[in-house]
Amino acid sequence: MDFAFTPEALELQRRLRDFMDSHVVPRNRPWLKEVAAGVYPVSFMADLKALARSEGLWNLFLPHLRPEEPGRGLSNLDYAPLAEIMGQLPWASEVFNCSAPDTGNMELLHLFANPAQYEQWLKPLLAGEIRSCFAMTEPDVASSDATNIATVIERDGDDYVISGRKWFITGAAHPNCKLAIVMGVTDPDADAHRRQSMVLVPMDAPGLSVVRNISVMNHVSPDGHCELLLRQVRVSRANLLGGEGEGFAMAQARLGPGRIHHCMRSIGQSELALRLMCERAQERKTFGKYLHEHGVVAEWIAESRCELEQARLLVLKTAWMIDRVGAKAAQREIAMIKAVVPRMQTRIIDRAMQTFGAMGLSPDAPLVDLWGHGRFLRIADGPDQVHLRAIARQEIKASRADYGISAAFLNVEA
Ligand SMILES: Cc1cc2nc3c(=O)[nH]c(=O)nc-3n(C[C@H](O)[C@H](O)[C@H](O)COP(=O)(O)OP(=O)(O)OC[C@H]3O[C@@H](n4cnc5c(N)ncnc54)[C@H](O)[C@@H]3O)c2cc1C
Repeated sequence: MDFAFTPEALELQRRLRDFMDSHVVPRNRPWLKEVAAGVYPVSFMADLKALARSEGLWNLFLPHLRPEEPGRGLSNLDYAPLAEIMGQLPWASEVFNCSAPDTGNMELLHLFANPAQYEQWLKPLLAGEIRSCFAMTEPDVASSDATNIATVIERDGDDYVISGRKWFITGAAHPNCKLAIVMGVTDPDADAHRRQSMVLVPMDAPGLSVVRNISVMNHVSPDGHCELLLRQVRVSRANLLGGEGEGFAMAQARLGPGRIHHCMRSIGQSELALRLMCERAQERKTFGKYLHEHGVVAEWIAESRCELEQARLLVLKTAWMIDRVGAKAAQREIAMIKAVVPRMQTRIIDRAMQTFGAMGLSPDAPLVDLWGHGRFLRIADGPDQVHLRAIARQEIKASRADYGISAAFLNVEA
């Protein structure tokens, strides 16, 4: 395993840090103020995006970017520290056209869009002119098992007619969200993993409505986690992405990169929380000692550093594997980071909140929002239990391959 970053990536890390320090972090307060006042996208977002693009800090996430496409074709390994840097502020990734759910959607379109779909949707997404959402989860079925998805996609002449209800659809409230990639059932009689297909649905298609932006732990995201109603939405059959019955397999292809990007951002947020905790612990005194001089706080700091490094190394290994053998062969590692990183994030941020005292729970510190992000990632993109189940199944399968090997290690007579 080799986690050395290329010279280009090291240079990009330096430039991205400088850009964040000079242009993005100082705008965090204005961003919060404008969003609170209902201004969204914020007034300076377009200028920041243009500046980032002119400096070559654009589309940093797509390893197979073609030479004529804007951005950098970085490996997943080289992208990891960049995503960490951007991830520290929840809104920063958009500045560099690297935000969820667009990154996963662009990867998906890059893999499966036909030339017309490429022109209509992927080009403006790569240019940062539009945003997109991915609509799979439904209120009426347990959606952590994607074979339950019930939205109906019916053929009608040259069209598909789509009916169903989706919820928690991230990004659908963004005013520039123009595309929903909708997953539904095209053939209810097919094998469970061949029933679903994906269709590209313009957000302004008649019959598609955003019913509400659902708050998550009482926090309303301006991009939204929305409930969508699709009532007899008619689109051309040319809007099918990939083939009929390939929706399940494509969803797996999309979720690999999407999950690792989330984990990279989470590592950045955990790093920020640890830094805040260390600074606060050196500023406040109780019972004659700085907080970090109390053994328990010192232990929280040390435990957090250990856990962060373990998680970061697993993410880097996963990125390295995706680069070498592809997301499918790295399925176990992707499941592991998805189960490990958000839990690590919430543990570290919880310690930071405790170190901050009351301020840690207030809007004056970013910790509540960062904790909320880690907490929702334990459900979004598949709950922990589904990933742990996948890991356990692989372990049992591997154990069966050389079953009986442990007998020689037991201190038991045959
Ligand atoms: C903030 C946020 C953003 C989201 N963004 C999107 C989006 O953009 N697009 C989209 O389509 N979806 C999105 N989702 C939805 C998310 O992917 C689903 O909520 C998730 O897959 C779980 O589905 P469910 O809510 O139907 O839970 P259910 O399937 O009802 O599961 C409930 C619980 O059952 C348990 N469980 C499930 N399977 C097992 C098992 N095998 N063993 C043991 N326990 C199990 C888990 O604890 C799970 O949390 C988002 C969710 C959140 C919270």
